[in-house]
Amino acid sequence: TGGADYRPMNEASLPAYLAGIPEVADRLGGTSVDWTVAEVGDGNLNLVFIVRGPTGVLIVKQALPYVRLVGDSWPLPLDRSYYETQALLTQGRHAPGLVPVVHHFDATMALVIMEFLTPHVIMRKGLIGGVEYPRFAATLAEFMAQTLFKTSDLYLPAAEKKAQVAVFCANTELCRITEDLVFTDPYRIAKLNHWTTPQLDDIAAEFRVDGPLKAAAQAMKLKFLSQTEALVHGDLHSGSIMATADDVRVIDPEFAFFGPMGFDVGALIGNLILAYLSQDGHATAQDPRIAYRAWILRQIAEVWTLFEARFIELWNTEGKGDAFVAELFADDAGRAALAVEQKAYMRRLFEDTLGFAGCKMIRRILGLAHVADFETIADPDVRARGERKALRLGRRLVVDRTRFADVDALCAAVVEAA
Ligand code: ADP
Ligand code: MG
Ligand code: MG
Ligand code: MG
Repeated sequence: TGGADYRPMNEASLPAYLAGIPEVADRLGGTSVDWTVAEVGDGNLNLVFIVRGPTGVLIVKQALPYVRLVGDSWPLPLDRSYYETQALLTQGRHAPGLVPVVHHFDATMALVIMEFLTPHVIMRKGLIGGVEYPRFAATLAEFMAQTLFKTSDLYLPAAEKKAQVAVFCANTELCRITEDLVFTDPYRIAKLNHWTTPQLDDIAAEFRVDGPLKAAAQAMKLKFLSQTEALVHGDLHSGSIMATADDVRVIDPEFAFFGPMGFDVGALIGNLILAYLSQDGHATAQDPRIAYRAWILRQIAEVWTLFEARFIELWNTEGKGDAFVAELFADDAGRAALAVEQKAYMRRLFEDTLGFAGCKMIRRILGLAHVADFETIADPDVRARGERKALRLGRRLVVDRTRFADVDALCAAVVEAA
């Protein structure tokens, strides 16, 4: 998939390359012999380097022409680096300060140079370690409300929306990963599937013949394939969030495309539920994680509640798009009718959120890519106990997504599942 001039960087070759980009060289300071490089990528797909110079530190993220997790038998287009850069720029415009600043993009090398976040830690690691992040719910609610609302037809003129859709519409290979790995493979025999075995063999087999579950998961897949609602991050799990006690940022939007808003909200909430249900495996005699589980549960409720309120607020104050033309609702009857419509809109988005959350939970246990929340639990029986609870709850969220009254009902189901 790479052009002729593409070459994967390594710690030895990167400084000479960076020396050729004056703006970047200036930030690092000194000359290339003064720069140290460390490859720190822990993701499934890409190379990530930290480059330190006398006056600055930068992140260099480069796409590889294949899936890093699997190897060169699974090719993957390099242009995902372009989509990641475009998404970071768009998100940075709508949610300033909530994503890393982009310094440079090189299409040939499929490489983006961005702000180094420090002392930020990947939130999934914090969730495993029992760390509370006071800014999490407010920041993610703001990030999702701003980026989803302001790339939707509620905010954008139709022609501008269509132009933005066109920018991302060829990110098809990354979408296909989601289409296959999230919505289809967990429900069939697939070469790359794996799970805690033999503990979960029975439920994995059960899901493969569960008609209502398979139909509901495919209904969510149809939404993912066909709904061009807003620019979604596309991979908004706790491993794509970096946090400190007073700052929270979103990284890694290479899966970005115009899709259903609930996919982002559901990914986030589904991963919080996985974190909650994995806590038994991280509990110790000194720290049984009771209070910490309660904290996670509050984040689920808060992130949804704050997101919903902020989204409606943006709609009422900045709803200047071609959908729901504001002029039509300026009188009392119009305002009341619009409020009813907004309520129905958020209800539909809530149901999408639950459906996508459930799909994401199931695929992290029966599919290719698992989560450290469970993988770091050494005892397979303890791990499988939590995973089974997540599978049962995930199924409920997908199949019964219209039956949850509100986010409190969701939280009650999480507590009940544990
Ligand atoms: P992938 O697409 O391969 O998952 P990520 O963008 O998630 O790559 O980055 C992998 C890891 O690199 C992250 O988990 C994080 O530890 C580190 N990282 C990525 N971007 C930054 C950044 N801007 N600042 C600091 N660390 C980062
Ligand atoms: Mg990542
Ligand atoms: Mg990843
Ligand atoms: Mg990624």
